[in-house]
Amino acid sequence: MSYFRENIERLSGYTPGAQPEGKDVVKLNTNENPYPPSPLVSDVIRNFDPAWLRRYPSPVGGVFRKAAAKLNGVNEDNIICTNGGDDLLTIAFRAFCDKDRVAAFPTPTYTLYDELAALQDCPVVKPDIEDDRLFEKLTDSGASLVILCNPNAPTGGFFPPKQVAELANALKGKAVLLIDEAYADFAGNNCAGLVKDFENVIILRSLSKGYSLAGLRFGYGIADVSIIKGLMKLKDSYNVDALSIKIAAAAVSDSKYFKHNIELVVSQRKRLREQLLKLGFDVPESYANFLFAKAPNRSAAELFDRLQRKNIYVRYFPYKGIDDKLRITVGTEKENSRLLEALKDIL
Ligand SMILES: *Cc1c(COP(=O)(O)O)cnc(C)c1O
Repeated sequence: MSYFRENIERLSGYTPGAQPEGKDVVKLNTNENPYPPSPLVSDVIRNFDPAWLRRYPSPVGGVFRKAAAKLNGVNEDNIICTNGGDDLLTIAFRAFCDKDRVAAFPTPTYTLYDELAALQDCPVVKPDIEDDRLFEKLTDSGASLVILCNPNAPTGGFFPPKQVAELANALKGKAVLLIDEAYADFAGNNCAGLVKDFENVIILRSLSKGYSLAGLRFGYGIADVSIIKGLMKLKDSYNVDALSIKIAAAAVSDSKYFKHNIELVVSQRKRLREQLLKLGFDVPESYANFLFAKAPNRSAAELFDRLQRKNIYVRYFPYKGIDDKLRITVGTEKENSRLLEALKDIL
């Protein structure tokens, strides 16, 4: 017998990208930001008094909640702070899904959704993201939770807010629409405005990518007060810690630094895409901080291995439909040059 629930026993568990150590590694495999976080983050850490750790933190993320509300033009009670964006996904699956309550999301997308669905033992409906009737299929799925990763990982595509509003409208009264905006910082546009019009929309944000704080584990959700109230029942009482709350608040308050950081990544994304196209890769336009590239007359698996031998890490997904492509995080100018040189060598 197993001590575990049957669906847990069957699970293999989410496989994150490798975290190789070493000075000479070019790490373009987990969509981390290649630039450091705002200098205001260092100030917070330097001035943090360890005595403050004696007390529990604010259960709702105190100063960060205020900052995020201001940033997004909503009220504090429209915000839930979470231990990374992934924490919000876990909370949402626990809140809305079980064996009778279906989840629906396009495929391919963030593979964590499949794992969280399996944890809840809930059925999933996964229409192809390129299907002309994608939104119709998501609406007709009978799902209680629909997730749209926008920009999508690993493909990099973006549905404009106007189109997403139609989906939210079609789902009204039937399902919650969670819009995963982990990469929206790089898209120049987002769907946060929909929260005012649709009580069934949840926006997910992460500080891991746009704010260079993947190691901090901080994210948040934006939604109607009624939804936030419900989600609060499911979260750990103190799901974000005292130091993180201060660091995250400082990071989002530095809009000037943020803007500059995003501009750097976006300009490197443009350059990297142009160079990859020149090398014969097929690279669709990306609205995120990565490119999803198909190599010319070369298997993605082989290219992945050859790059790794040169200490360059990109992401390869051995799944049907996407196993011919590599997902390449946009790095610094230097890192991107090293990747391009290595690719020229190999090809
Ligand atoms: C990175 C990411 C998240 C959230 O990541 P955290 O590090 O937990 O904030 C959510 N969705 C997608 C698609 C992501 O790539």
